[in-house]
Amino acid sequence: MEFIDLKAQQDRIRGSIERRIKKVLNHGIYILGPEVQELEEQLANRVGSRHCVACASGTDALLMALMAYDVGPGDAIFTTPFTFMATAEVILLLGATPIFVDIDPQTFNLDAQKLQEAVHTLVQRNGTLRPKGVIPVDLFGQPADYDAIGKVAKEHGLFVLEDAAQSFGAEYKGRKAGSLGDIGATSFFPAKPLGCYGDGGALFCNDEAMAEKLRSIRVHGKGHHKYDNIRVGINGRLDTLQAAVLLAKLEIFDEELALRNEVAARYSKGLQGRVVTPVVAPDRTSVWAQYSVLTHRREDLIKKLNSKGIPTAIYYPKPLHLQGAFSTLDYTRGDFPLSEKIADAILSLPMHPYLRAEEQERIVDVLIGGL
Ligand SMILES: *Cc1c(COP(=O)(O)O)cnc(C)c1O
Repeated sequence: MEFIDLKAQQDRIRGSIERRIKKVLNHGIYILGPEVQELEEQLANRVGSRHCVACASGTDALLMALMAYDVGPGDAIFTTPFTFMATAEVILLLGATPIFVDIDPQTFNLDAQKLQEAVHTLVQRNGTLRPKGVIPVDLFGQPADYDAIGKVAKEHGLFVLEDAAQSFGAEYKGRKAGSLGDIGATSFFPAKPLGCYGDGGALFCNDEAMAEKLRSIRVHGKGHHKYDNIRVGINGRLDTLQAAVLLAKLEIFDEELALRNEVAARYSKGLQGRVVTPVVAPDRTSVWAQYSVLTHRREDLIKKLNSKGIPTAIYYPKPLHLQGAFSTLDYTRGDFPLSEKIADAILSLPMHPYLRAEEQERIVDVLIGGL
């Protein structure tokens, strides 16, 4: 059994992928070729944002967004400690300071009330750090509470950068993930709900000038042309070949989202009352980048499941404030009790659109048998 079965997906779209790759081989425009533009148009339409800027990875998407806001030393960027390394890494990379804020106990996403408190504390301290932005993460595929976060952000003049790396296709109050902040950043790492065959990512925004700036940063801060450099940027382009793969995958993406929801519903039905099953807020949908339960018998369950050939994963075993990479920030255990508690109990089960009901029954049986 696979944790994420990319082979089953490929079997469905192999013809389309090969045709599209062949087209790229024929025209030979491997960097920012026509497929990239076609993809950007499709993605912008899907997300409901005026602009899409495809880029080399989800990490680059976050980095480019922060660069576009001229984030640097002295800037405080608020985010959750219960996320993948990249979310906070890019803040430190630019010399700015991540300020962690604990999470909502049900959705595991940034808690807007605690954000409000954290911003107040920083403002009152009146030190050298300026509150500049917030990066909410749509963890496991479910958007954070953007209305509540947006209210705090507006009050304090913060930009909102949505880390939608796990949530492409999800909705919040009828609006699509990627469009929920001032800028949205997503990832096409192969294991994400929409993944390519390598690294890839995209940025979304409505502001024309911002989109221009992002396109400039994507190619070494270019101005009118490649050798006119008006700012410092990066090499953050998406390969044409990856765009071709993504176009093929988009053909079946909506169907896959429906299947993901069926898989999640079957798990929840089978596991309800035995472990803590995921909660999706009534005003949101999830794309189930992960199906994660909470259990205090995690180590035993992992052994049991793995011994029966059922793969598992832990996202994330250690919150970022306890990671060595952030030791200069001087956080300690106890600073974010919910993130710490959930990191100790979270367990992710195999999740992909092609997981069969029989396979799930077996997973549920083995899991319940191990409790
Ligand atoms: C995957 C991921 C990223 C980084 O995306 P890459 O494409 O791997 O660089 C950032 N944030 C979150 C929450 C992610 O899950």
